[in-house]
Amino acid sequence: MQEVIIATKNAGKAREFERMFKPLGYQVKTLLDYPDFQDVEETGSTFEENAILKAEAVSKAFGRMVIADDSGLIIDALGGKPGIYSARYAGEEKNDQKNMNKVLDELESIPDDKRQARFYCALAIAAPGKRTETVAGTCEGRILREKRGTYGFGYDPIFYSEEKGKAMAELKPEEKSEISHRAKALQKLEELLPSFLAGAENS
Ligand code: IMP
Repeated sequence: MQEVIIATKNAGKAREFERMFKPLGYQVKTLLDYPDFQDVEETGSTFEENAILKAEAVSKAFGRMVIADDSGLIIDALGGKPGIYSARYAGEEKNDQKNMNKVLDELESIPDDKRQARFYCALAIAAPGKRTETVAGTCEGRILREKRGTYGFGYDPIFYSEEKGKAMAELKPEEKSEISHRAKALQKLEELLPSFLAGAENS
């Protein structure tokens, strides 16, 4: 059976990819299956660059097809912050509550009609001898004034989806995946996959 590695230690993310690759006859592995593999440093300056760095490093190490993602929150009133630094916005410890509190504080004086934001997800797919490709998806919304809801992770409690009329953290997983940046990027990846697989070897 062919194998694809999802460059993540997040089992939830891996399950989303499994839904796509299982019917194509692939066995889906994650970095949880390779605990000795050292984290790849995300030194890029865009989501795409970081996704490519991770996908290519893991593909090179294992000689397999690899998909990596990089995602975050872009807030217009903060000039695009926290952006690629979303996970560590309030410090190295990657604390969701502190990250959200920092955003709420920074936006305190910003009126409701200037609180637009979007989640962004870039996916990169790399395989030995193939040209790495990327796709991206976004999810539009605005930043609330307080946290709402208990589902999801990260900034979901302070992100309001106009489309759903609810905070992201008030949406059940299946509702979130109807509108999420990751689901949209995944859909694009699914469309790109046949041409990626058929693509000329370049080594
Ligand atoms: P990563 O790409 O999984 O490292 O995610 C980067 C950071 O972006 C996360 O730690 C969250 O803070 C934020 N983020 C990415 N996607 C989401 C989402 O769907 N909901 C809430 N926060 C997210």
